[in-house]
Amino acid sequence: MSVLSEQLIRKKKTIGFVPTMGALHEGHLSLVRQARKENHFVVASIFVNPTQFGPAEDLSRYPRPFENDKALLEKEKCDFLFYPSARHMYPEGFETYVDVEELPDHLCGLSRPGHFRGVTTVVAKLFNIVRPATAYFGQKDYQQSVIIRKMVQDLNMPVQVRVMPVVREKDGLAMSSRNRYLSEKERKDAPVLWQALTAGSDMIRTGERDASVIVKTVRDMIRTEIPYAKIDYVSVADPETLEDLKAVTGGVVIALAVYLGKTRLIDNVIVR
Ligand code: AMP
Repeated sequence: MSVLSEQLIRKKKTIGFVPTMGALHEGHLSLVRQARKENHFVVASIFVNPTQFGPAEDLSRYPRPFENDKALLEKEKCDFLFYPSARHMYPEGFETYVDVEELPDHLCGLSRPGHFRGVTTVVAKLFNIVRPATAYFGQKDYQQSVIIRKMVQDLNMPVQVRVMPVVREKDGLAMSSRNRYLSEKERKDAPVLWQALTAGSDMIRTGERDASVIVKTVRDMIRTEIPYAKIDYVSVADPETLEDLKAVTGGVVIALAVYLGKTRLIDNVIVR
C-alpha cells in the first residue's frame, strides 16, 4: 500500500480514504461515493481493530462478510481495498499509542474505556500507511469524528477530515453493522431511538432550553416504547467539547447509546 501511495502522490493524484471495520452497508458506501467524487484514487480499508474493543465486547463475533464487502466496493469503483491482518498492524513488541486526553471522557468513552485510544491509534497508523489527502468518516459515530478531527489538528496531520451525514433505514434506524445482531422484535422497536432524538430536537426548535427536560423526554420515550431497553446514556452536549450541557444556548448534539438485548446502538442528531 505505502509504495502505491508514494507513486500516486508523486504523480499528484489525490487519495480519498474510507476506513471501516467491514460488514459494509449504505452508510459506508455513502462515504466511498463521496470519496469517489472528490479524489483521483479511492482507498477503503477493512480492519476489525482489536485495540478498540473492550474485553467483554464483540470482537470475536463481529461480522466479517469479506467477499460481499469486496463486491460492494468494486461496484462503487473503489480503487484499492486495504485489509491488513492484526499481526501486520500490531506486530510483536508494538507499544506506541495515540491518546486524545479529554474528549474520550464523555458520551461513549465513559462506558468504553480505552476504546478511543484504540481508534486514534489505528487511524493514525492507517493515515501513515495510506497517506490520504482526505479521509471520510460518518456522523453516526459523532464522538469518534470529533476526536479524529482533534488528533489531526493537534498532531498536524496533513489530512483533511470530512464527516458525512448519518444514513438511515426507511424507518429511521441509523444503519450499522451491529443492526444484524438484533432479533426481529428488537429490530422492530429500534427506530424509537431516532424518533426520540427527533422529539428532542423538535423541543429545541420550539423553544425548550433546559437540557434536563430534553434528556428526560428522550429517556421517557425510549423507556415507554421499549421497556426492555437499557439506556447507557442520553446527553445534550456541546458539539465541540462533548460536555453535557445544562442549558441550550447555541448548537448542540443530542447523543445516545442504548442496549437492545446485547446489542449496543448509538445515534445522534445535531441541532444548530
Ligand atoms: P465502522 O465500520 O463501524 O467502523 O464504520 C466506518 C465508518 O463508516 C465510520 O466513519 C462510521 O462513522 C461510518 N458509518 C457507519 N455507519 C454509518 C451510517 N449509518 N451513516 C454514515 N456513516 C456511517
